[in-house]
Amino acid sequence: MIRTSAPVALLWLFVAHSVSALEVGDLPPCPKAAQACIALDLWLPEGDSPTSWLASQLNTANDRLAASGAGVQVAAIHYLSADLRDISSVTKRNRLGSLGQQTPLRWFVVDHLADNADPHQDRRGVTWRNGKTFWVIEATIALPWVLAHELGHVLGLPHSTESASIMNKTKRLAMLTPWRLGFTANEQPVMRKTLSGLLKAGRLLQLAR
Ligand SMILES: [Zn+2]
Repeated sequence: MIRTSAPVALLWLFVAHSVSALEVGDLPPCPKAAQACIALDLWLPEGDSPTSWLASQLNTANDRLAASGAGVQVAAIHYLSADLRDISSVTKRNRLGSLGQQTPLRWFVVDHLADNADPHQDRRGVTWRNGKTFWVIEATIALPWVLAHELGHVLGLPHSTESASIMNKTKRLAMLTPWRLGFTANEQPVMRKTLSGLLKAGRLLQLAR
């Protein structure tokens, strides 16, 4: 029989906990060239640390936002209770919004996000607004460019019909996969203006660097 002394068991618990806890420094920062670094408040299901998924969302968002001078960086991490892992209704979308504040911009990552009109349909991401407040909800089925798309909505963009826009949701040929899509020359001035207005109004927070 293997016996573990109490101090060894405590050390093991400490190490196991340290390994699993995600810290903001584990995630990619704003690129140095970004003129405005938007702070994100990340909310994850309790016990989850999908580091590589989060990093690919942040890296893709920063890559696509670069042309408009913006970037994003996680400023704080919080955990969601078990009943908020599955966002299956408008009520639950709004319950997420009751957590935290308008700033930093809340980025909720959940196991499942249902369409608000058809609960049998899965959604990858949404920028949800309630009154003057807004927040981003993403399901972990989302491919790497979904955060960038949602940040386009945050920065004032509607869906687009431009073939090169990441805001265009129509299915396209393989050569025009979202890997190659970004924000277009028409979209960037809108994003800059909206960002400036939201920062001035205190509805987005810029990280001091
Ligand atoms: Zn959209």
